[in-house]
Amino acid sequence: MTSPSRLAVRRNASPYLYGGEAAAVAQVLKSGQYGHSDITEKFERKVAAYLNVPEIVAVESGTAALHLALLAAGIGNGDEVVVPSLTFAASVQAIVAAGARPRFAETDPDTLCVTGASVLEALTPDTRAVMPVLYGGRAVDLTDAAPVLAGHNITVVEDAAQAFGSWHGDRKIGAFGASGTLTCFSFGPIKNLTCGQGGAVIPRTPQEAETIRLLRMLGIRQSQADRIRSTTYSVDTFGLRYPMSALNAAIGLAQLARFDQIEAKRPHLWRTYRDALAGIDGVALVDVDVEHTVPFNCVVRVRGRDAVFADLQSRGVGVGVHYPPNHLQAAFAPWHRPLPVTEQTAEEIMSLPFHPAMTEQDVSAVVDALRKAVAR
Ligand SMILES: *Cc1c(COP(=O)(O)O)cnc(C)c1O
Repeated sequence: MTSPSRLAVRRNASPYLYGGEAAAVAQVLKSGQYGHSDITEKFERKVAAYLNVPEIVAVESGTAALHLALLAAGIGNGDEVVVPSLTFAASVQAIVAAGARPRFAETDPDTLCVTGASVLEALTPDTRAVMPVLYGGRAVDLTDAAPVLAGHNITVVEDAAQAFGSWHGDRKIGAFGASGTLTCFSFGPIKNLTCGQGGAVIPRTPQEAETIRLLRMLGIRQSQADRIRSTTYSVDTFGLRYPMSALNAAIGLAQLARFDQIEAKRPHLWRTYRDALAGIDGVALVDVDVEHTVPFNCVVRVRGRDAVFADLQSRGVGVGVHYPPNHLQAAFAPWHRPLPVTEQTAEEIMSLPFHPAMTEQDVSAVVDALRKAVAR
């Protein structure tokens, strides 16, 4: 019972290392350049090439990416941002950090994503942005809401923290260019691609990229290299300190070089779950659109969730719940409104162990345990 395989199902999620990461970090440690450096810029160029976009701006985390994207879009005091309640608290805290107000929206129980209709229902005269969350890595299609959003000058800032590598039709997530969407990724520990910690904004224009770079580095325009050779520097605007460390960028570079393995493994693992789960009474799989998605997780809706969750936990199966709804959190009470679909969905969802080190046998073991737990 203690083979590596059995241990794998104890974890709900886990980073996946290819082997080159430690040496890459050691090299940066020896170099003495730990802040934003040419390694960070190399990571930016490699990610841009992977996405086939002109440039990206690497930052310290996905949360920082969302915060900066909102600021760059001019979102601030008094503005309202539509966001699903069913997301990681980071999405909502980024909105609050920008000085704006979250306006919580319902999600489709089958995908756990907002829809054009749920976004339109949530709009108010103060709405200045919409933040769809690409739950589980799947693209969110807002085509049917797009004319209304464009008509009211509402910016779409995608929380694609879970969606690195996924596609929206025949375009990679993030490769939207001037189409009006600002995309934010996370490279946190358990994300599809990890830097240890990290994130990125995909800007829509060169000017926007420049704005985000200024915001990321305390409003200082000069590069680190120029600053150390000068007697002064100029602080041009408001700014935060959100750079991506070269230590993190080095991990990301090692990961990106092998990312094709993840692009194959994660969909395979998800399909293995899908096939194994078919026909279990009282269990519905949340659909990630696996044809277009590098799945971040595998989530089911289960009748009697709390009992099933406790049973699986007690048997060492690393199930989780992502996420407790934000509109019910104390910190976000000022923006509470009733969301009956979300409240119902939140009582049913359960994330199964899902990470690339898992085998088909691990999936069988989890699904067997789930089948028994549901029957009990
Ligand atoms: C991980 C995540 C974030 C935050 O990213 P960090 O890099 O952890 O700051 C935001 N939104 C969602 C949906 C996430 O899964």
